[in-house]
Amino acid sequence: MNKIHQLSPRLANQIAAGEVVERPASVIKELLENSLDAGSRNLQVDLEQGGVKLMRVRDDGSGIDKQDLPLALSRHATSKIVHLDDLEAVASLGFRGEALASISSVARLSLISSTGAEHAWQARAEGRDMETEISPAAHPQGTTVEVRDLFFNTPARRKFLRTERTEYTRIEEVVKRLALSRFDVGFGLRHNGRQIHSWRPAQSVPEQERRVAQICGPEFMKNALAIDIERVGLRIWGWVALPAFSRSQADLQHFYVNGRAIRDKLVSHAVRQAFQDVLHHSRHPAFVLYLELDPASVDVNVHPTKHEVRFRDGRNVHSFIFSSLHHALAEVRPGGNRDDDH
Ligand code: ADP
Ligand code: MG
Repeated sequence: MNKIHQLSPRLANQIAAGEVVERPASVIKELLENSLDAGSRNLQVDLEQGGVKLMRVRDDGSGIDKQDLPLALSRHATSKIVHLDDLEAVASLGFRGEALASISSVARLSLISSTGAEHAWQARAEGRDMETEISPAAHPQGTTVEVRDLFFNTPARRKFLRTERTEYTRIEEVVKRLALSRFDVGFGLRHNGRQIHSWRPAQSVPEQERRVAQICGPEFMKNALAIDIERVGLRIWGWVALPAFSRSQADLQHFYVNGRAIRDKLVSHAVRQAFQDVLHHSRHPAFVLYLELDPASVDVNVHPTKHEVRFRDGRNVHSFIFSSLHHALAEVRPGGNRDDDH
């Protein structure tokens, strides 16, 4: 038996990186979430070779103070929570303080940031050594994070990367999912020098619907029913496609809980059930839905990627989602009368 020894910080970070940094798309998700948490109004994503060679996210958010830069890149360092209690009602997308440390342990990371008060500073960290180098730089208020050569020092991980096309597509999905979560924020996406998407901040409902149509396709929007239903402390709004626009796969289903994209069995079940009598069982509904509830009644600290949540009162949430959609679909139900008994 070998002797017990402490893992080096670098190795500990690389192991932790396995949980949050699976592929380029997971890096983009973490970087964009940081930019949104920093109150940005406009985000630009630049990619080279499906993100494997380069991923750059530029934002116009709060920026990071010079003295906080080394901390931003170190593990378990966050500005978003202080006490365990804060997790009860966490409103930010991040809070684990792991993303930048994890990413910089498996790639070459550079972060340039300005809070607007003085000039900008740049911090660099490379997988090989976790020392952060700080130097003066030029940047308007906000932050630009550059991640180069993902997995350059972890060949085993690098082998799992798919083609440039596939990795790009995954990133595009992440950007779309986040663009649907924040209509008030502008998003741009460029790949190999070509601007692929550009969504300006959408203020009005027609502008929001235009963004949804661009992301989910014009056919979705044409067949979509807008809903907005509120019941003591719960609100669900968004768009559900009428059964005429059902899918052979569950590939057009966006569900957000307090602005966070999630995949959840309870939610899927409630939606399925609402569609049960209007949709053939081999077909899948398409929707973009936003559930809003008291942050204290949902636990987001279930999984490192935060794709899963746990509802304090799952049964109530289930019945609310089911009855709201069931009600909304009344006009297409055989018989056509609204049935509010649920
Ligand atoms: P977390 O988001 O869980 O706090 P991260 O490792 O993703 O952890 O980020 C660490 C810290 O760095 C954040 O808490 C935040 O203070 C700062 N930070 C990261 N990205 C940005 C950004 N784009 N703008 C402003 N601050 C940022
Ligand atoms: Mg983060």
